[in-house]
Formats: sequence, structure tokens, C-alpha cells
Amino acid sequence: MTIETIKLEIQGMTCDDCVTTIEKKLEGLEGLKSKSVSYPEHSGLFSFDTEKTSKKEIIERINSTVHYKVVEEINNGNNNDSESIDKESEQKTYLQNSDYNLIIIGGGSAAFSAAIKASEMGKNVLMINEGLPIGGTCVNVGCVPSKTLIRTAEQLYNANHPNFTSIKPGENKINFKEVIRQKTELVEDLRQKKYVDVISGDPNVTVIKGRAKIVDKNTVVLRTPNGEVNGETKTGQVILIATGSSTFIPDIPGLKESGYLITDTLYELQELPEHLIIMGGRYIALENAQMFARLGSKVTVLQRSNRIIPTEMPDVSESIADYLREEGVEIKTGVKINSVSKKDDKVSLQITIDENDEAIEGTHLLVATGRKGNSNNMGLENLSIALHGNGFIKTDEYNRTNISNIFAAGDITGEHLFVYTAAYAAALAVENAFGESLKEKDYTVLPWVVFTDPQIAGVGMDEDQAFKAGIDYDVSKIELKDIPRSLAARNTKGFIKLIRNKGNGKLIGARILASEGSELLMEISLAIKYGITAKELKNMFHPYLTLSEGVKLAAITFDKDVGKLSCCAV
Ligand SMILES: Cc1cc2nc3c(=O)[nH]c(=O)nc-3n(C[C@H](O)[C@H](O)[C@H](O)COP(=O)(O)OP(=O)(O)OC[C@H]3O[C@@H](n4cnc5c(N)ncnc54)[C@H](O)[C@@H]3O)c2cc1C
Repeated sequence: MTIETIKLEIQGMTCDDCVTTIEKKLEGLEGLKSKSVSYPEHSGLFSFDTEKTSKKEIIERINSTVHYKVVEEINNGNNNDSESIDKESEQKTYLQNSDYNLIIIGGGSAAFSAAIKASEMGKNVLMINEGLPIGGTCVNVGCVPSKTLIRTAEQLYNANHPNFTSIKPGENKINFKEVIRQKTELVEDLRQKKYVDVISGDPNVTVIKGRAKIVDKNTVVLRTPNGEVNGETKTGQVILIATGSSTFIPDIPGLKESGYLITDTLYELQELPEHLIIMGGRYIALENAQMFARLGSKVTVLQRSNRIIPTEMPDVSESIADYLREEGVEIKTGVKINSVSKKDDKVSLQITIDENDEAIEGTHLLVATGRKGNSNNMGLENLSIALHGNGFIKTDEYNRTNISNIFAAGDITGEHLFVYTAAYAAALAVENAFGESLKEKDYTVLPWVVFTDPQIAGVGMDEDQAFKAGIDYDVSKIELKDIPRSLAARNTKGFIKLIRNKGNGKLIGARILASEGSELLMEISLAIKYGITAKELKNMFHPYLTLSEGVKLAAITFDKDVGKLSCCAV
């Protein structure tokens, strides 16, 4: 047996608890005879049997914590172990002298989630934001303004189109300026309460306005909005890129010159568009199409695919298309847009459908043709940070980029562009950067909603996905006209569809089309997550008359004809 003793310099320790963490990480390593880690000295002394373990293995164990890194062997000054230590040493020299534990580029929901998590872990954080105001897309130009405007439009529509013959249809008109004023009031209020107030006064978090560019793996430089470097640099042990996404603008002749709206500018209009043409047929396009149609605009949707919401099964696409058309939204599919031009106050689009050319003229054009990652001019190329798709940053299962101390989270990763996934991914990135062990991201049960009316809500697999996954599945679909709550409300638009693994009876997915259908999602999500079978679901009491009773009825419908059931039957 040959015993060797080494002393290693370890970077990243911030208190005595780090000693315990590192020592724990080494527990069970066969051949390790003794270990003594010192926080004040930033080092550790280790004795080991060279036949059973090695210096490399010890270093790897320490480095696997992510937060702590061996930078140098210091007992004999002999640094011949591996090239990788030299590399780490170079990196961690920066770490040692860093201004911050964490630099976050971006100031949206992902950034806030990361800052709060890091602060809770005792880390000092710098958040750098520019472009959108603090709070980013969701509160300023995304979720919040769109959902309050959708609600406004819904109230107006329902007042003018009551479901009951006993109520006279109204002729309410909208005061559009007031609609926008009230929307802005809500945005400002929520931005203050849910973003600014949440971190102001937190001694661990500093927020600065500025455009950040990464110059090396620990350093960012601030730039002016014009892109000029103003010289100020900041260093961080870890950098999180949370710069979000913006509208992808297709390359169509005349589009740029003619001018167009994107959602960042749409909700600032002061006059209701007379005729809004929308390029795109997915969730942002459809939510806005119905909302503006309900507020009183003529709306035309131009969709390149053969159906709207093409990622969903045809029954979803066709039903929502029918409901939108019933409300007067014009939907054209299979559209190729050849060019755009502007004349006087009109915008004109030259399009081809089924080899037939036509022109569409409107007063406003909204581009809603997908999103691209905000990764331009950020210095990512200096470090060869890997991208995918439209400027999105590639991340691994721990939300790391291909540079080990640079993480990315939120829309910039191109994964599940929702605010709640952005917040989840960012918090996870921080835990992985500074925590004791690495946790993989998990999107296996991810509920989502399209806020049209009826809403489209989904979780888990649809039939196509189950088929592709090789699962022997069956489907139960109940129309809203068979649900007492919907009959009582005289609103029977939509259906509830459950997908089950035939082998074990467990639910694997659901698609719901119903007014407020999103409120049903979480029961099904929990069922999927915790392996609850359709049979167990139907055995739960579901109050009569609620929409959630529809979930129970759909569960029953796997085995029985719902038309033959009495009230509250099981
Ligand atoms: C119209 C619309 C409606 C939506 N509705 C919903 C909804 O109902 N529910 C839902 O879950 N999601 C919704 N979303 C999606 C949701 O808004 C986003 O998924 C979420 O806001 C992404 O957060 P983020 O932190 O990743 O990015 P963002 O919130 O976009 O934040 C990024 C921030 O970084 C800034 N920035 C960019 N580059 C730099 C740089 N180099 N230096 C400094 N700062 C920089 C940006 O200006 C921005 O402030 C909607 C989106 C849109 C557009």
C-alpha cells in the first residue's frame, strides 16, 4: 500500500458549512484515508492509498459540487496532475477576485427568480437589464397586458352576446383609450409590487440599467443602447444569461419598409385598429385575433401552415378555428406572403393560397410569427457559446451552457416559452451553480394554456405523441354539451379529452377546449404526475354542477357511454 498526501487549494468556500459539504462529498471514496478541509485557508489536506484512488478522483469529487473547485496543488508546488486543473486555475483566479457571486444579464421573470434564489442562498448578485423595463416581457408587454385586455374584450363580448334569450343583447361600445389606460395602470402596479418592491432593500441584490456584453467567462462589460462600450466591467463567479426572446420577423420583401406592429407595441395603440391583419396562427396570434375582434376590429389571420395551432391534433385546431370564425375572425391557412406594401394609411399584403394570388388590405399589421432568442451582440461568439434555432442558447440538463460557469434560463434557451418555466429554470440554474449537488430539469408534466375563449389547455401527451412514444393508449372525449355545468351556463363550446395508458390505466395526457378550461388542468396534472388512474379519478367526488365534474365524466367515458348516465352517476 502506498499512501500519498496532497494539499489542494479550493476556491468557492464562503463559510464553515462549505467544509462539511466538501468533506461529505468525499465520504465513501474508497482508499481515502484522511481529509481535512479548511475554510480560512481555502484548502484541503488529503491522504489516500494510491492503489485504490487517485488525486484526480479526489479533485473530481470536489469539483462535482460545481460551486467548489480545486485550482492548484499547493503542498509541493508540483502542478503536473492534469491540464484540466490548469484550466480551472485560470478560471478560478477570476472567481477569487470576482465582484459578485452571480451576474444576471436580463431583468425579466427568469432574472428575478434567479436573484431571489441566489439571495436566499446568501450570494451577492448583480442584475443588469436594458431594453424592456424591469420585469421584462411578462409584466410589461406579455402575459399581464394581454390577459387583462382579453378579459376586457370578453366582458364586452358577453354583455353584447348573452347566452340566455331572456337577456337582451347589448350594444356596448368600447372606450379604447380607457382600455389602454387601465391596462397600463395594472402593468405599472404589478411591475412595482411584483418586481421592483420585491428586491429593493435586499442587500444581496444590486440592479443596474445597462446592456451587457460578455468578454470572458467571468467578466461582462456594460454598453450604451447604441452598442458602444462605456468601459465599465463587472466580474462574477457565475453568469446567468436571462435575456429573453423577441418577435421573430420573417424576411418578406417590403415588410420592414411598410412598418408593422409586434406585441411590444400593440398594447400601446391609442386607437382601435379598424382592420388588423395578423401574420401567424399560433397562440399569440390567436389570443390577439379574438381579443381585437371582440373589441370591434375586423381581424384577418394569415397562417402559413394548413391549420392554426398546427402543433396540436386536428380536432383542437378545427374546433377553435370554427369558434373564432363564428365570432367574425377571418382565418386564411396555407398562406404564402409574397410581399408587403404601404399606401396612404393602408397596409397591403400580396399573398398566394393554393397557387392563387390575392391581395389583402388592412389598417394595421401584427407580426406574430414566432420568437427568437435575444442573443445578438452579447459577445457569445467570444466564448463560442453554443446556439440552436433562432438565436436560442443551448443548455444541458442542469441549465449550463457549454461554458461550465455560464448558465442560461428562460426564453433565451428556446425551451417552453412560458413565464412559469422561465422562473423554474432560473431558480434551478442557481441551485445548480451554488448548491451541493446537481439537479436535472424536469418538464414531464407541463401544463399550458392558450387564452382564447374557449381556452385551449393541455398537459402531457396527445394521441400523436403517445403513438410516437409507442404507448398503447386509449382516448375518452366528452363534449361540453354533455356537462351539466356547461348546459346550465348555456356555453357548450368545446370538449374534454383524456388520454390513458391502456396497460396500467394511468392518465398520460389531456386536451381541454372550454371557457375557463385551464382551471381543470391542475387536477389532471397531479393525476399524471402521481400516477393516478382514470378509475381512481372517477371514484373521487366531483361537485354537481361544476366544470370539474366534466373531468370525472370524461374518466367514466373511457368505459361507458356518457349519454346513458343519470345525474351524478358513477
Ligand atoms: C404577448 C405575450 C403574451 C404572453 N402570455 C403569457 C402567459 O399568459 N403566460 C405565460 O406563462 N407566458 C406568457 N408569455 C411568455 C412570457 O412572457 C415569457 O416566457 C417570459 O416573460 C420570459 O421571461 P424571461 O425572463 O426569460 O425573459 P424576459 O422577460 O423577456 O426578460 C429579458 C430581459 O432582458 C433584457 N435584455 C435583453 N438583452 C439584454 C442585454 N444584453 N443586457 C441587458 N438586458 C438585456 C430584455 O430587455 C428584458 O428586459 C407571453 C409572451 C408574450 C410575448
